[in-house]
This record gives sequence, structure tokens and C-alpha cells, in this order.
Amino acid sequence: MKREEVYNFSAGPSVLPEPVLEKAASELLNYRGTGMSVMEMSHRSSAFMDIFAETKAKMKAALKVPDTHEILFLQGGASLQFSMVPLNLCAEGDTADYAVTGNFANIAAKEAGKYCTVHVMASSEDTKFDRIPAQEELRLSAEAKYFYYCANNTIFGTAWNYVPETAAPLVCDMSSEILSHPVDVSRYGLIFAGAQKNMAPAGLTVVIIDRALAGHERAVTPLMMSYQRMIDKDSMYNTPPCYNIYMLGLVLDWLETQGGPEGMERIKHEKAKLVYDYLDESRLFRGCAWPDSRSDMNITFRTGDEALDAEFVKFSLANGLQNLKGHRVAGGMRASVYNAMPMAGVEKLVAIMKEFEVTHRV
Ligand SMILES: *Cc1c(COP(=O)(O)O)cnc(C)c1O
Repeated sequence: MKREEVYNFSAGPSVLPEPVLEKAASELLNYRGTGMSVMEMSHRSSAFMDIFAETKAKMKAALKVPDTHEILFLQGGASLQFSMVPLNLCAEGDTADYAVTGNFANIAAKEAGKYCTVHVMASSEDTKFDRIPAQEELRLSAEAKYFYYCANNTIFGTAWNYVPETAAPLVCDMSSEILSHPVDVSRYGLIFAGAQKNMAPAGLTVVIIDRALAGHERAVTPLMMSYQRMIDKDSMYNTPPCYNIYMLGLVLDWLETQGGPEGMERIKHEKAKLVYDYLDESRLFRGCAWPDSRSDMNITFRTGDEALDAEFVKFSLANGLQNLKGHRVAGGMRASVYNAMPMAGVEKLVAIMKEFEVTHRV
């Protein structure tokens, strides 16, 4: 199969901007006259130190990260943050509030339960995680050390369309939406995101932390999981995921050409609207999430008939649309429309859905 015949709707690892891949390919064997690949460089070399500093500066600029906050380039995926957050932010016996709005928030809450008292203050599990609670529905505990939520629920296709108001610092999993819209970082205590959705290949986790929250980790916290240690060492306590950091730098350059997070917010909304408008008028497909909780990044939909869903996935594959099958815990279909998915891919998706509807209307 040729690359130009495929649109990849994978939820992650997922599509990367083509100009980024081309640039990486052009520099793969010899990075800017160093005679070596970025993959082969010492992380202490001046060439790599420049890449590191530039990528960090670009990230700071893209999200307008205030000086109170530190940007860390870590490993372990978003999933390691599920344990790192409570280990660093809670002492034994402390309470943390968790909004359980999907699969990953659920796992995070269970993991935190090993280290602190978890107060699940909002869940939509009884309706298959099809909606995000409103501010008034959040039952916040007065003593919470932090309030945890997942901004975009990758599996169920819902997203918070507001930033919760809480007394406790906000901790947010932004894995599947980071860099898709501007964020007021100063409102957060800690933001984290695995790279493989909107930023870079899998293997890099970006953490943005208010320095005031670091330095209180428990004594048993593994060295590699101490925010303070990583801040002190500028993410280089050990070998960082060098090549991924380089790739993130290229993605941030590309994001600039799209108008940064501000430009991307408009573009991503236009792409998602195309699909949701069609879903709202379709008599075969319907969206899974409540309209006010819809995600622009992960669009979940179904026909209501599992056999027909499977047939649609087959039909879409035959037309070059890959990875539209929903996550196994959610069923149905899911189109992940991350930053790098071109508008043409979304237009093709809607065209294929329409074609399928004409021949399969029930
Ligand atoms: C993908 C994803 C994760 C898991 O990320 P890993 O890097 O595989 O650990 C966690 N949270 C969200 C919201 C995700 O989309």
C-alpha cells in the first residue's frame, strides 16, 4: 500500500505530520553536518543539548508556560504519571479528588488508591462514560491535595469543554489533546501527556509542573519518579528519550505553520464539525457522546448493530481508512482526528460514511 492511499485514524500511536517525517528522513543519517544521526548522539553532546534546549523553548512558547512552571521530558508513558502524581503530591492518609470520566481516569484513580485516599467525585460510568459532568455536579472535598481529571477521554470520545474551578491544584491528563488548543497553564498544578497522540512517537511523556508542588515526594519514591530530581537535573538524571524530543521539536515547528495552538483550535474544530454535522443528520450512524461533551480529537459513533459496525469497518479499510474500529471496551467506531490528520482525511471519512449509509440504511 502506498502512503498516499491511507488515512490513519489510529488513537495512538498515531499519524504524524508528513513534513515532519520528511524532515526527519532528510536528517536521519547526518544531522546538520555532525556526521551522525540524532539517534546516535550522546545526550550530553552540544548538538543534542541544543536540540533539547530548543524543543523545551518551543514547548514553552507554544503553550505560553509561565516561569512558575517547569517542563519535563520523561519516560514511562502517561500511565507512569498515574503513580507518580500521588507519590509526589500526597502524604500517607491524604485525600485526592478524581473525576472518573473514562478508562484512563479510572485506571489513574485506582492506581492512586494505593497511595492515598481517593475520592471519586464524578463518574459517568453508569452511562458508559458518554458525558462530562458540569461544574455544579463536582462534589469537591475540602481537604483534597489535588483535583485530577482527564481533559479528553480517548476511548469514549468525550472532552471537558471547561476548566474546573477548584480550591485544590488541578492535575490534568492531556495526552490526547495537548497542543490542539491554547491552555492557561497558570491554572494548573500539573499537566502531563504521553507524546504518541499529538506530539511525537511513543516513548516521551511531557510533564508541566508548578515548581511549588515538587519536592514533597514520599521517601519511598523511586529516584526516577521524583519530580524534584528531574527538575534539578533538567530531565537528564538519566538518558532522556533523545530522538523523541528531537521529533517533538520538529512537530512544534510544524505546529507554528498551522498558527500554533490557536490556529489548531480552529482547524481541529472544523475537522470535527464536518463529522459531527454528518452524524447529526445520518439515519444510520449516531454519535456516542452527549453533544455538549463531544471530543474534537476522538469521534466515537455506532450504528446500533454490531454486525453492521463490523461491516462498516471492513468497508472503510477497503477504502484506505485505517483503524476506525472502536476500542474494545467501548465498541462501535472511533475516528481519531489528531492535529496531524489532514482535512482531506476527514472529508474522505464522511464521504465513505455517506456511501455506506446509502447502501445500508435500515
Ligand atoms: C493514551 C493515553 C494514556 C496512556 O498513555 P501511555 O503513554 O500508553 O501510558 C493515558 N491517558 C490518555 C488520555 C491517553 O489518551
